[in-house]
Amino acid sequence: MAWMDNRKKMAESPSIAADRAYFDAHDDPAITAEVERQLSRRTRDIRLNGEINRLFRARIWPQTAKIIRAWMIWVAILGVMTLGLNMLLLPPEISITMVLPSMVIPPVALAVALVWGRPRAPWLQGSLLIGGMFVILVSVALVGVNAGGEYYERSLNIMLFVAITAIIIFGVPLLWTAMIAAMAFGLYLVLQLANPALDIGSAVAAALFFATGIFATVAARRNMTILAQKTFLFELRDRHRVAELAEVNDRLEFLARTDPLTGIANRRWMTETINHLWGDGRKCPDRVAMLMCDIDEFKKLNDHLGHAEGDRCLIKVAGIIQEHVRRNRDHVARYGGEEFLVLLPGMGEQEALFVAERIREGVEAAGLLNPTSLVSRYVTLSIGVAVQGPADEAVSSEQLQRNADAALYLAKQSGRNRVVIHRPESSSIRTARRNDDAAEWNAMR
Ligand code: GH3
Ligand code: MG
Ligand code: MG
Repeated sequence: MAWMDNRKKMAESPSIAADRAYFDAHDDPAITAEVERQLSRRTRDIRLNGEINRLFRARIWPQTAKIIRAWMIWVAILGVMTLGLNMLLLPPEISITMVLPSMVIPPVALAVALVWGRPRAPWLQGSLLIGGMFVILVSVALVGVNAGGEYYERSLNIMLFVAITAIIIFGVPLLWTAMIAAMAFGLYLVLQLANPALDIGSAVAAALFFATGIFATVAARRNMTILAQKTFLFELRDRHRVAELAEVNDRLEFLARTDPLTGIANRRWMTETINHLWGDGRKCPDRVAMLMCDIDEFKKLNDHLGHAEGDRCLIKVAGIIQEHVRRNRDHVARYGGEEFLVLLPGMGEQEALFVAERIREGVEAAGLLNPTSLVSRYVTLSIGVAVQGPADEAVSSEQLQRNADAALYLAKQSGRNRVVIHRPESSSIRTARRNDDAAEWNAMR
């Protein structure tokens, strides 16, 4: 039934479904609880672990990888340019000592950039990054250490500069950041202690001075990561709330279009469907039929058997009507108290009468008691039919409804429990063939 298909569509909000694959997390109660727990803490106490940390890493991966790749390429270019300049400007006996360490930098940096081209196992990415950084830092230091003299300390300072830029801009786990920092500091300390131009005291003092700078850089990196994590937590919370809101909206919209007693569409939904079928320009469809169905002597059923029994009868009649229409094309709505409107798009007169008669027979055959009815001991239905055919003069949806109402009125007037079709001149009584051809009906469905 078209109505049911719409229910399905409503249950799945398109705006949320688009990002579902990436952010299924907002549906997970454990993640939602963890998000709230983390956001209730002070910012500096935020710690992401387990699944939520994995999600955070996955979320920032593209940006982190882009930065690492760009940095590696920068280092590779810098290595080549520095070597070129040194060859041009420095005496050959000095520049020759710089060739080997300088030539190691570009391939290693490019290899790391290549590995970070697409997501891989964290241990692989981490160890290659740390290993690559180690080789790069050692090579930068050795450029000057091999040359000796004034170049010795200068290259160590350059090495620290290189390390600090990496620490501050690589959004990697704190452990990896700390390892890069420790490597830079360790190299600096060891090579300064081995610096023939410095006594031990000066080497240690210089190392301690730079240690404070490296430590501050790591702390800054940590704060930046925590802020990024907080932003991520807010993002998850927002998504969760938007999803919740969309679900509530869908539910409300569904309720606003449903008849609470029978569960079928209500008048509002039918009005929207009719307006949609007729189009914004209110252009009449080529072929469409309307059936206005009304339970006969329903008041007597209520009076005699009680309101609750009346309600049960309404539910059953709604079900019977639905059983006799095409699932995917036709629309059934409870239009008023014991009135149902059926919209049959694409149906001509013969088919509409056929369907109406099947519905009427179906209700009669159900044997629902209405003991004091003057029509029958059982519940019966009168149906007014109005059809808009391709050759007919185009009418508005309101007019077609009025025609179906007029035919229903005639059905009541002429004894109830019957199907009457509206004709332009005057409504005339005409019931569909009783010896139905089931195959014909099945073909229609
Ligand atoms: P007719 O054959 O001319 O259609 O007679 P009728 O008794 O069916 O029509 P009438 O309009 O006189 O009465 C309709 C009754 O439907 C009156 C009202 O109490 C009852 N009704 C309307 N809505 C509901 C409902 O939700 N539940 C129940 N049980 N009864 C309802
Ligand atoms: Mg009525
Ligand atoms: Mg009635």
